[in-house]
Amino acid sequence: MKKLCEYCKEEFVITDIELSLSKKINLEISTICSSCLLKQQLSFWLFGKFRKGKSDLSGESLITVLSDKNRYPIYTSHEWFSDKWEALDYGMNYNSNESFFSQLQKLQEQIPHPHQNGANNINCEYCDDVWNSKNCYLSRSMEECENLLYSYRNFKVKNSIDAVVCYTSDRCFSCLNCINSYKIFYSRNSKDCIDSYFLFDCRNCQDCFMCWNLRNKKYCMENIQYTKEEYFKKLKSYNLGSFNKIQKLKEYFEYILINKAVHRLNFNIKAFNSIGNNLINVNNCYNCNTVSDTEDSANCIRGTKINNSLNCGGCWYGDRNGNSIGCSNSCLIKYSSWSQSRFSEYLDLCSDCEYCFGCIGLKKKKYCILNKQYKKEDYEKLRNEIILDMKNRREYGKFLPYSMSSGGFNLSTGYLYFSNAKKEEILKLGGYWQDIDESNIEGISTNELPDFIGDVDESICSKPLICPETSWRFNISEDELTFYKQNNIPLPRKHFDVRIKDLVKYFMVLKSYTYNCCYCKKEIQAYYPKEWGYKNIACEECYQQNLN
Ligand SMILES: [Zn+2]
Ligand SMILES: [Zn+2]
Repeated sequence: MKKLCEYCKEEFVITDIELSLSKKINLEISTICSSCLLKQQLSFWLFGKFRKGKSDLSGESLITVLSDKNRYPIYTSHEWFSDKWEALDYGMNYNSNESFFSQLQKLQEQIPHPHQNGANNINCEYCDDVWNSKNCYLSRSMEECENLLYSYRNFKVKNSIDAVVCYTSDRCFSCLNCINSYKIFYSRNSKDCIDSYFLFDCRNCQDCFMCWNLRNKKYCMENIQYTKEEYFKKLKSYNLGSFNKIQKLKEYFEYILINKAVHRLNFNIKAFNSIGNNLINVNNCYNCNTVSDTEDSANCIRGTKINNSLNCGGCWYGDRNGNSIGCSNSCLIKYSSWSQSRFSEYLDLCSDCEYCFGCIGLKKKKYCILNKQYKKEDYEKLRNEIILDMKNRREYGKFLPYSMSSGGFNLSTGYLYFSNAKKEEILKLGGYWQDIDESNIEGISTNELPDFIGDVDESICSKPLICPETSWRFNISEDELTFYKQNNIPLPRKHFDVRIKDLVKYFMVLKSYTYNCCYCKKEIQAYYPKEWGYKNIACEECYQQNLN
C-alpha cells in the first residue's frame, strides 16, 4: 500500500508486515512515514541540559534536565511518587466541541512531572535516567554504573569519562560501543581489550595503539607487530598529554576508518529473517534498530522483549504495543508516552493503569478518561464517542501532537538521531525549539587552556570554561582532573554534551545504504552514510571469514 507522508510529502510504502501488525494490534494505519513518526515520538524523549531548580510543590531544590520554561509543574521524583498529590483531582469533562488533543494538552499542562527519571541510586543527583548506580555525575541513561562522568547509555561501566554505549568496562575515556575492556582510550567497537589507544573493531588486544580489526594481539601499532621494548619506546615518543597531538591522532584515526579499516555491514547478532541494525537475538523484525530478544515487530528502536509491536521507541517488555514511546511492561498500549499500562490509548506518565483513554500521570486506575473516573459501561460509551469525534477531526490514530512534546526538539533524543532537523520545520509541525541565550556567558575560552595536561594545576577547577562550538559553560571537576593527570589525557575543549554527541552519532544511523562487499563484491545494505566515505564494508560472511 502506497501513501504520501503528511509531513515530508514523500511517498512511502506500508508493507504487508506493517499491515498485518496493524490488524493484530488494531492500530490505525499511519498517515506519516515511519521516519517522520519516529522523529515526532523522539521529541518526547528528553536529552535536556542539566540545571538547578525548585520543586513546585515544596520548594525543595533539585537538579533536572527539564527546561526552566516548562509547560507543566515539576515535583521531585520522591514527591511525585508519594501520596502528596492525586492526578484524579485534575479530572476534566470531555467537550465534544473541542479537539481532543487540545483538551489532553490542557490537562497535561496541569499535571506535575517528576524532576528525574530513575531509581535506587546513591549520589547521582546530577544525572537522568539512571538506575542502580553510584557516584555518577552529569550522565544519562545508565544501569549499574559507578564513578561515571559525562557519559551516556552505559551498562556496568565504572571509573570512566565520556563513555558512550559501553558495557562492563572500567577506566575508559572517550570510547564508543566498547565491551568488557579496561583502560582503553579514544576507541570504538572493541571488545576484551586492555591498556590501548585508538582501537577500532579489535578483540582481545593489549597494549596496542592505532589498530583496526585486530584479534588477540599485543604491542601493535598501526597493525604492525613490535617487541615490548620497541612498543613502549615508541608510545613514549607520542606526546599523548598534548591536546594538539591528540587532535592530529584523532584525524589520523578517522583517515584509517575511511581508508583501511573493514566495517561490518551491520552489528546484528542472531538476527533471523530481520532487517535493521544492532539487532540481537531477534526473529521476524523489520526496519528495527537496537532491539533485542524480540519477535514479529516493525519500525521499533531501542527496545527489549517487545513482541508483535509496531512503531515503538524505547519500549521494554511489551506485547502488541503500537505507536508509542518509552512504554515498558505494557500490553496493547497505543499512541502513548512514558507509561506502563495495558489496554489503553493516549496516555502520558501513567503507571499500572488499565482501560484508560487520554490520561496523564495516573497510577493504578481503571476506566478513566481525561483523568476522570467512570463506570465500565460509561467509560466504553464515552470512549467510543471520542474516537468517533477524533476520526471526524482526523486526530484518531495519530501519535500525541508535537505541541505535547517534552520541550525544545534540539534538546531531545530526536535531535541525536535527526541532527539535520531545522528550527522552522519543527515549529511548523507544532513543536518547540529552545534557543540558548549566550549573551550573559562569562568564562575562559578553551583555546587559552594549556596544551599539555602536565602544565595544568588545580586552579582550573574553579574556572568556568566556554565551549567554542555552543558557547555553553562547563567546568573541570577535581575527580576529572585527577583522572586526566593519572592517564595523561589533555583537558577537553568542548562542552560534555557536545562530546557525547560527537561520539554517539556513529551509533545513531537508522537508514541503510547500498554498497558492494569489499571482498566478494556482492551488493549489501550497510548502515554507514555515504558521506562518511568508508571504503571497506564487508558482508557478514566475508567479515566472519576474514576477520574472526
Ligand atoms: Zn515523512
Ligand atoms: Zn562479501
